[in-house]
Amino acid sequence: MLSGPLVFDTHEMGRKPGAERTFTKTIKAPAEMGYDVYAVPEGSTIELELRLEAIMEGILATGTFSARAVGECVRCLEPIDEAVTVGFQELYLYDAPSNQEETDEEDHVLEDELLDLEPVLRDAVVLALPQNPLCGPDCPGLCPECGARLADDPEHTHGEAIDPRWSALSQLAEQPVPPADQSESDISSDDSKE
Ligand SMILES: [Zn+2]
Ligand SMILES: [Zn+2]
Repeated sequence: MLSGPLVFDTHEMGRKPGAERTFTKTIKAPAEMGYDVYAVPEGSTIELELRLEAIMEGILATGTFSARAVGECVRCLEPIDEAVTVGFQELYLYDAPSNQEETDEEDHVLEDELLDLEPVLRDAVVLALPQNPLCGPDCPGLCPECGARLADDPEHTHGEAIDPRWSALSQLAEQPVPPADQSESDISSDDSKE
């Protein structure tokens, strides 16, 4: 027997086309809602809006849910924590198709008039979440040489390849520095006499 916060009893809808029920529920997220790198954490809060509507061959489940998706940027490993709203619509057949050849693994069928929404939410969240989440659309990733996060330090280099935007500055720096007042003082000398 199905049970749990995502199981809805459709008995009282009596398989009467047009019968309708709506639900607003706050539930805890089941496991495996998303990808390894980006998912709705198990046990986190999901706000669910659901409408069940009886049609000839079954119950049409339509709704949205809001949740938090947590993961890390696949380019720079920065944590990502975002609010997501996911829509879904799925038909639950009253009875499994009698013709075995027509049975599809994707078909959802009521069990004792009970509707298990969990697999539908799981499919919907997998479709909605990016498989390769990014902290931002233009994340430059990590420096291939030192692993620094380039979004934090976009101009850093390792000596060899100098960014053309900076080469003009570095030429300036190579020019002789005009003598300053204390130009004759030794840089390494102790500066205690002030
Ligand atoms: Zn990133
Ligand atoms: Zn680097």
